[in-house]
Amino acid sequence: MRGTKAVWVKARSSTNHLVTGASQQKDAMGALFKVLLLTWAAGIWTPATGRGLYTENDPTALLDENNFNTTVFRSPSAWLVEFYMDWCGHCQRFAATWNALGRTVQDWSSVIKIGAVNCAEAINRALCQRNGVIFVPTLKFFQQDASASDNSPYYDGKEEASLIRSAMLKFLISHPNASNIWPFLFPLQSPVDVLTEGSTGGYLKAVIVEANENDTLAMEVILSMLPDRRVTVRRLVGGRDVTEFPSMYQVLQNGRQRLLLSGKNDTGSYISLLKQVAGETIASTTPRPTTERVTTISSKETRPRVYMQDLESGLHFAFTQEVPLHSSLKDGDLENLKAFIDVLAKYFPGRPQVHLYLQRLNNWLQGQSMVSVDQWLNQLSKLQSREASLPDTTKWVGCKGSADNYRGYPCSLWTLFHTLTVNAAAVNKYNSNWEPAEVLVAMNGYIQSFFSCHECAENFGLMAAGITTGETNKAYGIMWLWEAHNKANKRLHEDITEDPAFPKIQFPSYSACPSCHMTIPATNQDKPVWNRPGVLRFLQKMYGKENIVQDTVPVASTSRAQTKTTNPLMYMFIFVH
Ligand SMILES: Cc1cc2nc3c(=O)[nH]c(=O)nc-3n(C[C@H](O)[C@H](O)[C@H](O)COP(=O)(O)OP(=O)(O)OC[C@H]3O[C@@H](n4cnc5c(N)ncnc54)[C@H](O)[C@@H]3O)c2cc1C
Repeated sequence: MRGTKAVWVKARSSTNHLVTGASQQKDAMGALFKVLLLTWAAGIWTPATGRGLYTENDPTALLDENNFNTTVFRSPSAWLVEFYMDWCGHCQRFAATWNALGRTVQDWSSVIKIGAVNCAEAINRALCQRNGVIFVPTLKFFQQDASASDNSPYYDGKEEASLIRSAMLKFLISHPNASNIWPFLFPLQSPVDVLTEGSTGGYLKAVIVEANENDTLAMEVILSMLPDRRVTVRRLVGGRDVTEFPSMYQVLQNGRQRLLLSGKNDTGSYISLLKQVAGETIASTTPRPTTERVTTISSKETRPRVYMQDLESGLHFAFTQEVPLHSSLKDGDLENLKAFIDVLAKYFPGRPQVHLYLQRLNNWLQGQSMVSVDQWLNQLSKLQSREASLPDTTKWVGCKGSADNYRGYPCSLWTLFHTLTVNAAAVNKYNSNWEPAEVLVAMNGYIQSFFSCHECAENFGLMAAGITTGETNKAYGIMWLWEAHNKANKRLHEDITEDPAFPKIQFPSYSACPSCHMTIPATNQDKPVWNRPGVLRFLQKMYGKENIVQDTVPVASTSRAQTKTTNPLMYMFIFVH
C-alpha cells in the first residue's frame, strides 16, 4: 500500500527510571556468574570508549563502579550524580552546564556534592543499569546517608544550571539531614532566633527575609557561606515591617536589626556584602578558564570507507552496553529489539561466523516474551562458539575521532544503518513483496527504545515520523536515510560535538563524488544541487558488501587476539569509484 505512514512500537518513556535493587539480592553464585558474563561482555582487553568528559580539574567527583558505593552511600553529604556516555553529543554539550553548576555549588560540598559516571565505560555498565539509566544524561539525587536500596529520585527538569541548582535546594529541604550537621535551611520564626539558633558559630549574624517559602535565594546564600565560619545566615519568610523582598539584615547582639541590602535578586551581591561586613576584603574572583575548542585541524579529505571493525564494534557496544541498560526487555522494547535483530540477521553483511551468530541470536529472541538482562547477557555469551561468534571488542577504525570523545559509537550506528539499507535493497532486488522501509522502521524502533542519547532519539523520531511504507522504489530506504543524515549533519555542523578533524558536511562532498553533484559547490557547506541517481550509485558502492574493508577485524574473536588497526589513509588509493 503506497503512501501509508510507518508505524512502530514506541516504548521509550523518560519516566521509566525504576531502581529494582534486584542486583543486591543475588546470591554468591549469581554474582560470580555475572562477573563472568561481564568479563565477556567487556572483552578481556577492551579499552574504555573514551577518557570521559570530565577530569580531576573539574568541580565534579569522578565516580565509577569501583568507588561509587563507598563514596555516595552512607555519605555525610547528599549527592547529585550525572550518568552520561562520553560519545553522546547531548552529554558533551551538557558538560559545560554541569561544570558551570559545579563551580557555583562548590561551597555547598559539605551538604551536597556532585559527581559523574561515564556509562560508556564497560566497567560501569552494571552500575548504570542498577541506577535505572536508560537515557543519558540522567541526573539522580542521593540523600545524605543513602543506601543502595533507597528509592533515590531523578532530576526531571530542564538542563539549565540555575534550575538544577533550585532542584538541589528543593531536594535538600525535602530530605533534611538525619544527623543535624547541616545548616538550618527552614525559615526561622523571628530574626532574633538567629542569635540563639546556630549549629555553626560566626560573629556576624544575618537573616535574609523573602516573600515566599519557595524562594531560594536565601538558601543559596546560606549554603554558599558555609566555608566562611565567621558568618551565620538564616532565612525568614515575610515580615511585618519589611517592605521590599528580599532584604538582608544584620542581627545585632541586642536583637536589633540593621538593613544591609534589599531588592537585589542575585546571590553574589549578598555573599560579597556579607564577606565585606565580616571584615574580609572581597577577593578578586578569577574565573576558571573555560575549555576552549581546539582549533580546527585541517585534514586532507579521504574517500569515505566502511570498516567491518566499526560495524562489529557498534554491535558489540549496542548489545553489551546499551541494550543491558534495560533491566528487563518486554512489550514494545522487546518488539523493537526483535525487529532490529531480525534485520541484522537478514542483512548484516558480516563474516560467516558473525552472520551465523546473529541468526542464532534471532532464532532464540523471536521465541521470547520477556527477557531479563541476565538472560540476555547469558545468551550472548552462550552463543559464542568457534563457528558462530561476535567480536568482544570495541575499537574504532574509520569512526575513530581525533580525540577520545569524538565519533565512535554514533558514527558506527549511522554506518551500520546505511550498510543495512544498501544490503537489504540488494538482497531484495527481485523480491516484489519486500517492504523498502523495513530497515528504517527497525532502525527507528531501536533508536527510540535503546539509543541512550535521548536528544538524538527525539530528533530522529521527528524525522522518522515522515517515513512511509508501501513505497515501490526499492532505493527508498537508502535515499531516505541519506537525506535524514544530511539534515543531522547540517544541524550539527560547528556544534561543539563536531570533531574538528572531521567536519560535518553535506555528504558526499564534490571531491569524494563529482557525479553526485550537478554543480561544483564552492565549499562543503554550500547547499549542493544533487544528482540523485549519482548519489544512489555512490551509496550503493560505498556501503555495498564487497567494498567493506575486512582486514582490520580480529582474526578469530574466540582467541581474544589483540586487534590490528589499519590507518584509513592506506585505503584512499584503492577505492574504485
Ligand atoms: C540516529 C542518530 C541520530 C543522532 N542525532 C543526534 C542529535 O540529534 N544531536 C547530536 O548531537 N548528535 C546526534 N547524533 C550523533 C551525530 O549524528 C554523529 O553521529 C556524531 O556526532 C559523530 O559524528 P561523525 O563525525 O563521526 O559522523 P557521523 O555523522 O556519525 O557519520 C558517520 C559517517 O557516515 C558517513 N556519512 C555522513 N553523512 C552521510 C550521509 N548523509 N549519508 C551517508 N553517509 C553519510 C560519513 O562517512 C561519516 O564519517 C545522532 C546519531 C545517530 C546514529
